[in-house]
Amino acid sequence: MSRTKSLTTSGMLMNHMSAWWIVLLKAIIVAVCGWSLALPAVAETIDDVIGRCPTVAEMAAIDAVITLSFEGTDPSAPTLVCHAIGGSRDLTKLRRNVYNILIAAQKIRFSQPLPWSHQTSVWDWLRLESGINMIRLRGDISGSSCCDPANAINLNVAPNSYYVFSDKWLDDDGGGGGLVSSLALVVHEARHRMSAGHTCGTNDQTIGELGAWGAVIYFYLWLDRYADPNFLRPNTGDKNYYRNWHIQEAEATRGRICQPPATVAGNVVEFYNSTLNHYFMTISSAEATAIDNGSAGPGWSRTGVTFQGWADQNLAPFEVRPVCRFYGSISPGPNSHFYTSDADECAFLKQLQATTPASQPRWNYEGIAFYIGAVLRGTPVSTALFCGAPAFSSVVLPVNRFYNQRAAQIDSNHRYTITQATASQMSQAGWAAEGLVMCSAQ
Ligand SMILES: [Zn+2]
Repeated sequence: MSRTKSLTTSGMLMNHMSAWWIVLLKAIIVAVCGWSLALPAVAETIDDVIGRCPTVAEMAAIDAVITLSFEGTDPSAPTLVCHAIGGSRDLTKLRRNVYNILIAAQKIRFSQPLPWSHQTSVWDWLRLESGINMIRLRGDISGSSCCDPANAINLNVAPNSYYVFSDKWLDDDGGGGGLVSSLALVVHEARHRMSAGHTCGTNDQTIGELGAWGAVIYFYLWLDRYADPNFLRPNTGDKNYYRNWHIQEAEATRGRICQPPATVAGNVVEFYNSTLNHYFMTISSAEATAIDNGSAGPGWSRTGVTFQGWADQNLAPFEVRPVCRFYGSISPGPNSHFYTSDADECAFLKQLQATTPASQPRWNYEGIAFYIGAVLRGTPVSTALFCGAPAFSSVVLPVNRFYNQRAAQIDSNHRYTITQATASQMSQAGWAAEGLVMCSAQ
C-alpha cells in the first residue's frame, strides 16, 4: 500500500524500536534469571479440532445429548485412526469425523443467533431446540433424510461421503467441500424436523421461509459474517481461506431457492479532474449528478468508464465485500479519495486515522462506497464474483489499481482500471501498477 508510506514512517519506526526492546528485554531476563520466556500459547483453530482425536470426555458429553447410531457398512472400517490407549476411543475415520464435526458445532460461536433459532451455535440449537437427539449414520440407505424415528436424522454413509474420507474442514481438491459440508448436512436434515419438507420440489420456495435449504444458506453466511475468524481459519495459508469459501457456498446454495432474493447492480462511475490530475469514483447517481454540477469544485468530468458494483448489500449477491472509502483533506491533504475492498487494509487505515492528529496528512474514513467481489488468494474460485488465484470465473471483470507515486508531495491518488488499454496508458504516464484489488462483473 504505497500510498501510506509517507504517512506511516513514524509508526513503522516505533514498531521497530519496540521489537528491539523486546529482544533486548528477553536477553536480559535470560542472562539474569537463566530461563527463557515461554512462547505465548497459540490459539486453537478449527484445523486443530478437525485434525485430532476427540477425548473420552468430549465424546461422553456428546453421547449424553445425542445418540450416534452407526448402522450398516462403514467404508472406513476396519482401520482405526484413534485409540482408547491414546486417551480417545478405538475409532474409524467415520466415527472420529462425526464426533469432530459435533465438537466443531460446539466451538463455533456466532455473535448473532442463527436466524431460525434463539441459539448462537449449531450445537446449542441441536441440543435445545431442534427436537433431534439421535443421528443415525447409515451404510444401508442411499439418501439422507429426516425423521425416522421422529427424533432422528438418517445420514447416508458412502465411500464418497466427506465424513468417510476427509480429514479437513475444507478439502483442497478444487471442487470444494469437506467436513464443513457434513455439518451443513446435519443442519439441513435436522432443520426438516421443525420446517417439514421442501416447498418447491426438492428445493425451497424462498429463503425467508427458513426451510432446510434456507438454513444451509444462513449456516454458511453465519460462518462468514458472525464466527470468530481467528478460530475459523486454516493453520497455514490465507486466513480468509475458509471464510471466503463459506460465502461462496452460501451463494452457490442460492440455486436451491426457487424464488431467490432480487439483486440490483449499479454503475460505479469514474470522474477525472484535469487540474488536479486525479481520479474519483462513485456508485451514487445523486453524488455523480452533484459533481457534474460543480459540487466538488471545478475541473471534474466523467471519463465514460463505469463498472458494476452494488450500492445495497441486501440487494447484492451474498459474496460481495464492502469497499471502504477514505478522503484526506484540502489541508494538509491529500486532497484525494482512496478505496479498498481489503478488510485488513481498511482496518489499518482506520487505526492510523485514530492515532494521527488531523493536523497531519491522514486518510479519513467516509463510509462504504459500494459492494463488490473480493480478491481471493489461495481459495478455490467456484462461483462468479471472486477473482484471484488460482482461477478467474469467466464472468468476472478484474479491477486493477494504479498509483501516482506522489505521497511525498501529499498528493496521492489512485486509478482503478478495468481494461488493458487503460492500464497501459497509466503505466506510460508513470503511475505504479499495484495489482488486482477488486472483482467486478462482466
Ligand atoms: Zn431436504
